[in-house]
Amino acid sequence: VDGVSFEIRAGETLCLVGESGCGKSTVGKTVLRLLEPTSGRIWLGDTEVTHLHDEGMREHRREAQMVFQDPYSSLNPRMRVGQIVAEPLENYGLFGAGRDAAEKERRVVALLEKVGLRRDALERYPFEFSGGQRQRLGIARALALNPRLIVADEPVSALDVSVQAQVLNLLMDLQEEFGLAYLFVSHDLAVVEHIGHRIAVMYLGRIVELASKERIFSRPLHPYTEALMAAAPIADPKARRERLVIEGDVPSPINPPSGCHFHTRCPYAEARCRTEAPALREVASGHVVACHLRDAMQTEH
Ligand code: SF4
Repeated sequence: VDGVSFEIRAGETLCLVGESGCGKSTVGKTVLRLLEPTSGRIWLGDTEVTHLHDEGMREHRREAQMVFQDPYSSLNPRMRVGQIVAEPLENYGLFGAGRDAAEKERRVVALLEKVGLRRDALERYPFEFSGGQRQRLGIARALALNPRLIVADEPVSALDVSVQAQVLNLLMDLQEEFGLAYLFVSHDLAVVEHIGHRIAVMYLGRIVELASKERIFSRPLHPYTEALMAAAPIADPKARRERLVIEGDVPSPINPPSGCHFHTRCPYAEARCRTEAPALREVASGHVVACHLRDAMQTEH
């Protein structure tokens, strides 16, 4: 991952999309400092979190949570649901023993209800739930400490399509209620179209285009974004669209091509694309793209 820069506002969902291996999950983990950046800076609100240690890091972990892709392996199978959701509250010493126990249970039940589960889930084990319900448990656990930011890494890709929309709608409702910021990592454009406000397209470790969802879907400007859009299925069998086909495999991110990383697969590549990396340039308000073809475009405002 190289030179990636973006911001997410409270109540906003920024989606990171791209093929597997493009670095989108690495970015998500780095924001949470589950991976350490080699350079660059990460801020949450007014706090720079890049070099936090101990207490500061503990606070960051409280404010920035993750929802994982696999609701099967991200929940401890030996713990009851009540314990799973209560664990973060206990780790942060928010509830002790005795009188606090009843208050803690009330808080856990409230969290379960927020994600559409009933009180009788408390004594059950994760294996007794469906995939969608387990992802709801994962979300309840992530919400326990009132975070400001949630990094969701492919949170619905392991679920049946019929259940995906329910979980996405739940995430959207919770966002509205709590003003949550989401960094939403996905390879699925239908999912991104449903939940995203802005979309950043990544290719081999770099953001190649970033704009509002509406602009990315209606006016993709980077050839790679154009190809991703063209490859996405459309629900209408009568609909026709121009298809830009890109060929070849994604090159190794360890040793990416020189210049524009996309030049080995780009149908429009010209000589300078092989030597000169295009800079991200704003071509319209809030719409940035890194492609030499777009260098001559006047900025629209
Ligand atoms: Fe294609 Fe060149 Fe644009 Fe890269 S800079 S996307 S190779 S036209």
